[in-house]
Amino acid sequence: TNETLKTIEKTEEQIHAFIHVAKEEATARAEQLDQAPADARGPLFGVPVGIKDNIVTKDMTTTCASKMLEDFVPVYNATVMDKLEAAGAINVGKLNMDEFAMGSTTETSFFGNTLNPWNTDYVPGGSSGGSAAAVAAGEVPLSLGSDTGGSVRQPAAFCGVVGMKPTYGRISRFGLTAFGSSLDSVGTFSRTVEDNALLLGVIAGEDDNDSSSSAKQVPDYKAALTGDIKGLKVAVPSAYLGEGVDAEVAATVKEALKVLESLGAVCEEVELPHVQYAPTTYYVISSSEAQSNLSRFDGLRYGYHTENAENLEQAYFRTRQEGFGDEVKKRILFGTYAMSADHHEDLYVRAQRIRTLIAQDFDKVFENYDVVIGPTAATTAFKLGETGGDQLVHYANDVLAVPANLTGRPALSVPCGFVNELPVGLQIMGKHFDEETLYNVGHAYE
Ligand code: GLN
Repeated sequence: TNETLKTIEKTEEQIHAFIHVAKEEATARAEQLDQAPADARGPLFGVPVGIKDNIVTKDMTTTCASKMLEDFVPVYNATVMDKLEAAGAINVGKLNMDEFAMGSTTETSFFGNTLNPWNTDYVPGGSSGGSAAAVAAGEVPLSLGSDTGGSVRQPAAFCGVVGMKPTYGRISRFGLTAFGSSLDSVGTFSRTVEDNALLLGVIAGEDDNDSSSSAKQVPDYKAALTGDIKGLKVAVPSAYLGEGVDAEVAATVKEALKVLESLGAVCEEVELPHVQYAPTTYYVISSSEAQSNLSRFDGLRYGYHTENAENLEQAYFRTRQEGFGDEVKKRILFGTYAMSADHHEDLYVRAQRIRTLIAQDFDKVFENYDVVIGPTAATTAFKLGETGGDQLVHYANDVLAVPANLTGRPALSVPCGFVNELPVGLQIMGKHFDEETLYNVGHAYE
């Protein structure tokens, strides 16, 4: 823990992955663990872990990278935090992110952006940019993020680390600040697939506090890492290597597919007729859910409260006007519009129908294939400030990431090479609750 804290202190000057480094808490916890009897040591005994700052931590600020929650100190732990603690892990701090997990670069954070450890002129991706950068820079071996529409996998790809978004319901969402409740999942970052499998095994499982958590038993993910993928049936959607995907990224992924073939996998091209509508569908649904979820930040119950109000209505209005950043406001406005009486048939209801069509496309493919593979992101990391926070640029990029969330499927990103010295990620999507196959494919490839 001491070494980790020293490394963090040095590295943070360049990377700024943390919003809060929990120096005192981590040190006290390590001292306490030192006294633990040998037979009471869990699978993550003494392992330092960083936590995305939208996962609530008892007695430790949880800001969601927003002015709205700048000083918010939760009175309880997220279920994943309790599980990490029970396994012996040490929380060394809270990691930077896009405000309320809305973004793809970590530039919308109220606390300033995080830099990509491979080249600090570039963003780490987002929204879990701090979680990915901290692992890539060697500050922590493991971290947690959240993935509503790619926010674990895309930064994992941009930072050259392993990132898993498991099946919807595999990990309890209790204590994960809600964004799009039908899409949200906690996700895991690590440098190797094996470490990732270990971490998921610790935090997955049913939870009485989250009715959407699955009762399915948690398998021993590490035991699934046989490295044997002979006969594995791989679907490669044509849209995933075609127009809109950087040619060099596509070439890098094709090389990775050749490696899988050399290990005995059978790769075939497939069509996903509705997948081009995935980003639009995702933004309608996620923003509609977000506007409802974020209504709780009213200045009375949580965090920031305006000083410029003469009555209750002004208090609500100005708290939200002053507390939320531009991207969050945009999503709330759009989501409110999409759910309004005049437009919800055209936007929200239609998006739900298209979501079903997209899910059916994937169901069909998975009748004949074990995994769907493509790039995690269409490009390598963006240059800092290049997109000026313009989310429209990123919306198009999301065609690769959001189907896993829209269909509730697990997807793993593993590093598969470099373009211009920036990492490229290989995305492996699987059947519901078949994280084992994803880890095994990633492990075989690694
Ligand atoms: N780019 C997506 C968005 O801005 C990522 C969200 C996420 O997964 N948290 O909505």
